[in-house]
Amino acid sequence: MKLKHAVFALAAMVGLAATGAQAQQAYPNRPITVVVPFAAGGPTDTVARLIAESMTRTLGQQVLVENVGGAGGTRGAAQVAKAAPDGYTLLIHHIGQATAATLYRKLPYNVLTDFEEGGLITSVPMTVIAKPAMEPKTAAELVDYIKKNKEKVTLGNAGVGSASHLCGMLLMSKVGASMTTVPYQGTGPAMNDLIGGQIDLMCDQTTNTTGQIKAGKVKAYAVTSDGRVKSLGDIPTLKEVGIKDFEVTVWHGLYAPKGTPADIMEKLNGALTVALEDPKVIARFADLGTEPEAKDRRSRAFHKQFLADEVNKWKPVIQAAGVYAD
Ligand code: ASP
Repeated sequence: MKLKHAVFALAAMVGLAATGAQAQQAYPNRPITVVVPFAAGGPTDTVARLIAESMTRTLGQQVLVENVGGAGGTRGAAQVAKAAPDGYTLLIHHIGQATAATLYRKLPYNVLTDFEEGGLITSVPMTVIAKPAMEPKTAAELVDYIKKNKEKVTLGNAGVGSASHLCGMLLMSKVGASMTTVPYQGTGPAMNDLIGGQIDLMCDQTTNTTGQIKAGKVKAYAVTSDGRVKSLGDIPTLKEVGIKDFEVTVWHGLYAPKGTPADIMEKLNGALTVALEDPKVIARFADLGTEPEAKDRRSRAFHKQFLADEVNKWKPVIQAAGVYAD
């Protein structure tokens, strides 16, 4: 009799273990939401949708993008920080994840401790662009124009903490004159106003500007990368036009709420890696002036350390500029 009980107990345990394993294996068994903390139609959205499409194929479940714009990306990030850590709510954010740690006095989450890092995606150069009717023809002329017109010049951005804000701040400090900033929920809508001439200038990622530059819908003055961008070969770097120490590349990463199980994070990192090796993604990135993150920078551990380094890198720059948000 005793033996019989033991056999039943063992069978029950094996059964339970199998159910547990199935539950793990079953991830994902329903659609996954990736929050993009900026408006649809912008560069972060473009990158996220490309990645989500590939991850959908790999994971066998819909990976849906939800745009939660506002407060320079911190509104969407806060939503994910508070979500259930079950692998069904993720975040794709850019360099703003690091700069927000210093820019925001009252951030409703901790950048370094409230997320699991899922891996870096791509590092995108920025461009300094203007409305089509902007008078200056070259970057040098633009600098003079800003100095003469100062606050009369309007500069669009995606809110405090966004990449466009950071780039604009650097531009103002290099030129030595402040302009009037106009915040949007993302540079997708800001781009529409730039094309329409409602604002004068903007800094934005090549993933949002390449098509518009090539179609002649906006004027391009310079790229913010160390070297020229292949797909925009005739546009000089800021360094070439005499504006030194102004290198901004907008790196993007995948996140999940803190406490998301390690095996789920590894699965997500694996699906992200597949996306970064997907010929369709690589070709589209190239058209948009960027490329997948290098192989040696794709692990979760690398992303974690990189984020911490970026927080430290931008802290003194932001403190020196004295720009904060509440
Ligand atoms: N590129 C934007 C920024 O300035 C955000 C976006 O709309 O994707 O950070």
